[in-house]
Amino acid sequence: MQLSSKLPNQGITIFSTMSALAQRLNALNLSQGFPDFPAPPDLVEALCEATRNGHNQYVAGDGWLALREQVALQFQQRDQVTLDPLNEITITPGATIGLFAAIQATIHTGDEVIIFDPSYDSYDPAVRVAGGVPVHIALDAPAFKVDWDKVAAQISPRTRMIIVNTPHNPTGTIWSYQDWQQLIALVEQHDLLVLSDEVYEHLIFDGAKHWSALHFPALRERSFVVGSFGKTFHVTGWKTGYCVASAALMQLFRQIYQYANFCGNTPAQIALAQYMQQHPEHIEGLADFYQNKRDLFNAALQNSDFQFTPAQGTYFQTVDYSHIRPDLNDLEMCHVLAQEKGVVAIPISVFYQHAPAHLRLIRFCFAKTEQTLELAAQRLGE
Ligand code: GLN
Repeated sequence: MQLSSKLPNQGITIFSTMSALAQRLNALNLSQGFPDFPAPPDLVEALCEATRNGHNQYVAGDGWLALREQVALQFQQRDQVTLDPLNEITITPGATIGLFAAIQATIHTGDEVIIFDPSYDSYDPAVRVAGGVPVHIALDAPAFKVDWDKVAAQISPRTRMIIVNTPHNPTGTIWSYQDWQQLIALVEQHDLLVLSDEVYEHLIFDGAKHWSALHFPALRERSFVVGSFGKTFHVTGWKTGYCVASAALMQLFRQIYQYANFCGNTPAQIALAQYMQQHPEHIEGLADFYQNKRDLFNAALQNSDFQFTPAQGTYFQTVDYSHIRPDLNDLEMCHVLAQEKGVVAIPISVFYQHAPAHLRLIRFCFAKTEQTLELAAQRLGE
């Protein structure tokens, strides 16, 4: 039989590769982004209770209504935007399928989608599967700011969508209000859609503010916003997220999503809704919680020859190792660190279509216990 790949040249993701390496070497895994500490006990109890109470069958395809209402409440309080939980919010099994379905729903053969590199690894393949053409625009270290003239120059009559990710994985940078204003001018001028990946919406440091695409009335009718309860509640393995869009866009989204997955996990949705109702302090304290971890890790790294600008958001710290082993590319550096120091990181070049030749950056995840962070920083300082 003749087999033909829809994603030729696509290997196994860097996250699977590096987590497997960490496991094989029994090394500290600061690569794939997930916490090594427990989920909130009351949340775990709520999940058990939901299953014991018989919530073990399919939930409504668009998600448990009480959880959609909690999402709406978050946006109301933070962004002063009123969402209709019935028609504008869908609970999905993770943000990844939300991104995928939004792209499949709106990108047609030959449509161009602008992606800022370094970019989260699922955007480009999702565009290709839809028959679209990813147009990558590289951002330069260390600021990773968007050059808006460069973006304007890349827009063609086929451009259909711009993908935004703030706070940004892997660089830990955030978009300013001015960035959004520049985006709005372009998408209005060229009638473009926005797919805004905001999975780290609550992980934002030093008093900075997260601007959601939904905050801006000009983007309301042309944006999808995707989020992840996995990041917010320390339960990445529950694979539960959400997608928000105007009713017209959401209708397109659901046409695809209902056949990609039909619905998410029932007890997880019920547990999250209950926990959000009963524990508003969880989200309120999340930025400080992760800022303390960032500061602990970075303070310990000060003793090393790694150079870095503290992450403004996310739970990732990107560091430059050019003063340590400039002779190694970033994948080689990750292998050396794993084998010689027992600490596994993620190379940044994999997030680029064409990585700059002299890129010497790797990413550490600091969603870890103090003990793990101190041990890792101590080994890295040697
Ligand atoms: N988003 C996580 C990271 O950046 C990993 C998710 C995944 O494994 N696909 O590390």
